[in-house]
Amino acid sequence: MEYRIIAETYSKIESTSKRLEMTDLLVELFNQTPPESIDKVIYLTQGKLYPDYMGVELGIAEKLAIKAISKATGINEGKIGEMLKEHGDLGLVAQETIKKKRQTTLFSFEERQRLTVEKVYENFDRIARAEGGGSQEKKMQYLAELLNLATPLEARYIIRTVEGKLRLGIADMTILDALSIAYGGSKELRSEVERAYNIHPDLGYIAKRLATEGIEGVRSIKISLGIPIRAMLAERLPSLEDILAKMGGKAAFEYKYDGMRIQAHVGERIWLYSRRLENLTDQFPDVRDAIKSAFKGKEAIFDGEAVPVDVNTGELLPFQVVSHRRGRKYGIEKAIEEYPVVLFLFDILYLDGEDLTGKTYPERRKILEEVIEPSEQVKFAIRLISSDIEKIKMFFNKAIEDGCEGLVAKNIGEGSIYRAGAREFLWIKYKRDYKVEIGDTVDLVVIGAFAGKGKRRGTYGALLMAAYNPDKDRFETVCKLGSGFTDEQLAYLPRKFEDLRIERVHPRVWSKIDADYWFVPKVVLELIGAEITLSPTHTCARDVIEKGSGLAIRFPRFTGKWRDDKSPEEATTTKELVEMYRNQIKKIG
Ligand code: ATP
Repeated sequence: MEYRIIAETYSKIESTSKRLEMTDLLVELFNQTPPESIDKVIYLTQGKLYPDYMGVELGIAEKLAIKAISKATGINEGKIGEMLKEHGDLGLVAQETIKKKRQTTLFSFEERQRLTVEKVYENFDRIARAEGGGSQEKKMQYLAELLNLATPLEARYIIRTVEGKLRLGIADMTILDALSIAYGGSKELRSEVERAYNIHPDLGYIAKRLATEGIEGVRSIKISLGIPIRAMLAERLPSLEDILAKMGGKAAFEYKYDGMRIQAHVGERIWLYSRRLENLTDQFPDVRDAIKSAFKGKEAIFDGEAVPVDVNTGELLPFQVVSHRRGRKYGIEKAIEEYPVVLFLFDILYLDGEDLTGKTYPERRKILEEVIEPSEQVKFAIRLISSDIEKIKMFFNKAIEDGCEGLVAKNIGEGSIYRAGAREFLWIKYKRDYKVEIGDTVDLVVIGAFAGKGKRRGTYGALLMAAYNPDKDRFETVCKLGSGFTDEQLAYLPRKFEDLRIERVHPRVWSKIDADYWFVPKVVLELIGAEITLSPTHTCARDVIEKGSGLAIRFPRFTGKWRDDKSPEEATTTKELVEMYRNQIKKIG
């Protein structure tokens, strides 16, 4: 398949911000893709080569990319550097320089060999995998080889992709829509395709099964050891009474541990995945060994929360402590000693070849307790099954006293299956801070920033924060956030967001405020505010409560938690803020 087709589609996608148009363009692209290449086309469109959980990163240093452009065009690196300063985008520089070259070479470009998707993917894969001595030179050669064959437009996207800056703003859900339409003619297949995605979140793989075997191929996708399953999530309600009523009068109430969600796949080999499905196995060898020795069967997938503990007192420690363990490549042994964790298991999804997600919560919990021998490092989530509100309240207080955030209520009825990737009322969370102020912390996405003044000159004075609107698939602004940062964090902000800077507001962001800097919506952080108010300036849930007004958070404060474990689509939603606004009114009134 010609890479030209992809490049032309990207260019059209870039000029729209409407999800429906993007979907149509993707459908058109998939229709032109031969089944054997569909996986590659999908990965490339997402700016990657494999699903994220495989941890293969495509990336090349800017300097090296400049070298490759220079090699392919004969223009010296200094000149390319200058052009980069002017354009701010090496993709555009590549496009322009290749264009110049084509105009001046005698050899007819039409006669050249056309660049194929397969060739682009193959060279990208080589770039991602090149290691050790001489690897930089090799990466540069692979890239230059592609640029030699590329049209100017192709060069633009090749460079952006290797730099990790493709940023077409296409959500996984849009790709699922487009796949259902391209292969089913309508959105009819959507729910089945999504089911497969929830238990095997690899869009390339799903697309290939769909393209080569039809919907039957997708239906036969099963849970498999080593492939992460999308986590089941909890809804929220403002009171234990409401929760109990919603659960039909009786439920299991589990401690809500404040740590890091871990999905453990245990067999001959072990994999640990985060809530965002990143592979954490190498960062938590202690957890890996502990779960291995606690498990009495052959193969299983567990869901749980890793929580930092004070080994001297046995007390649970605040969430932040476990973040010292994340992202480490070195000093892991020392970190294990300094920040030991306990894994609290609350679910089992698969056992010795059997998918357990269709079983009820009580059945799963029973199996969990049968196959795990608890130890110092692996324990079961503490729980109470009750219909007695007074007992539940006392249990909640105990959970808080024991260092937890609150409770997660779990449905114990017939329909209490494990719903991968879903946030529904089968699980409902109840946290302590519902009683204070606006009731809860929120997780918002950083989409822009304002230049600092006075003491903050040279860094950012505030960040522009947005909530996610899943219906519209866009980010809507809620507040400017300037407090709660340490001096160190403040000074580091511009560098932290450097790679996400874009010229204009991102197509999936809706803002009525003009920020000084715009970012790709990616970084999520936790903040707490005093109150949610109606706001004429912010776009969050605009017109929902009152015509012409959105919602804003007053006096927001960064809690110190960067939510690296959340993707922007997992941030607090505009709907959740509407609910919080209404609950708050209820309380005041
Ligand atoms: P969410 O995961 O719901 O999007 P979040 O990451 O902000 O939101 P919370 O709202 O605090 O997390 O609550 C849900 C999280 O609570 C789960 O993802 C899980 O990591 C954690 N958790 C702790 N204890 C339990 C438990 N017993 N059962 C389920 N989840 C639990």
